[in-house]
Amino acid sequence: MSTPLTLIGLGPMGQAMVAKYLEHGHPVTVWNRTASRADDLVARGAVRADTPRDAVAANRLVVLSLTDYQAMYDVLGDAELAGKTVVNLSSDTPDKTLKAAAWLAERGAELVVGGVMVPAPLVGEEAAYVFYSGPKAVFEQHAEVLAVIGRTEYLGEDHALAQLFYQAQLDFFLTTLAATLHSVALVRTAGVTAAQFAPYLKDNAESIWMYLEETITAVDRGEHPGDLANIVMMGATADHVVGASEATGVDAGLPRAVQDMYRRAIEAGHGQESWTALYEVIKPAK
Ligand code: NDP
Repeated sequence: MSTPLTLIGLGPMGQAMVAKYLEHGHPVTVWNRTASRADDLVARGAVRADTPRDAVAANRLVVLSLTDYQAMYDVLGDAELAGKTVVNLSSDTPDKTLKAAAWLAERGAELVVGGVMVPAPLVGEEAAYVFYSGPKAVFEQHAEVLAVIGRTEYLGEDHALAQLFYQAQLDFFLTTLAATLHSVALVRTAGVTAAQFAPYLKDNAESIWMYLEETITAVDRGEHPGDLANIVMMGATADHVVGASEATGVDAGLPRAVQDMYRRAIEAGHGQESWTALYEVIKPAK
């Protein structure tokens, strides 16, 4: 079924989404602050609105793909929002999504929050999925058309949930990318290329999934038995990674953050527990 929608924000993500909607035969009205970014999509059949107000007026379903939630206020401040469903796929903090839901509700609109878990070239492809949260009935009304950009993973009524899942995934992603670059920087100080080291790093990265089961059991039970890789031993290793970084002149900020967690876990009396007890110093203090 063809469902008309409005899409505001034509960065790489918004452009990829509009392209998929057009491919699937859904009429799309677009608006972007820098108007020229719509040119190619208009040539392919999208309708250009002159103002965000006109773009919102064109359809009941309004999808936003903007840099952050402040951009939503900048763009929608002037629009007539009563009766609209705003699906905001922009990244920001969970508390900002709650404020946005209240702001839209005051104007008679519903918010569905989304977090897209793939880069632009994969939008609408097999690997694509999107976390959603917000009013279930509203999400379900639009679930079919939202599925065009990726598998829908609805998490619940709490608007903050999708943003929290998204940021948790990005937390893992950004830290892992930085750690990858950091370990490559260490070996390169010895004249080794990234390509020479890569097979070992790949092996290491793949073995991380062995530790996921242990993480799940320990964190969900709140117990950290096991002395094969206890906090004292892992903490000593964290010291050595910092030492290796300092000795080679590689930035030690990332390993120092990890070292600090191990030190605090030892101070808190978790030294003889499994490495999973690090969670006890990471989680919020009660
Ligand atoms: P950008 O974050 O670079 O930009 C998105 C759009 O926001 C642009 O169209 C830009 O307009 C618009 N914008 C920003 N600030 C304002 C403002 N104050 N008023 C009006 N318009 C504004 O693009 P992406 O497409 O990469 O990302 C969109 C969202 O998706 C982001 O929140 C991002 O974190 C998230 N995301 C991105 C992924 C990626 O791989 N790129 C992957 C998954 C999620 P203009 O063109 O005029 O600058």
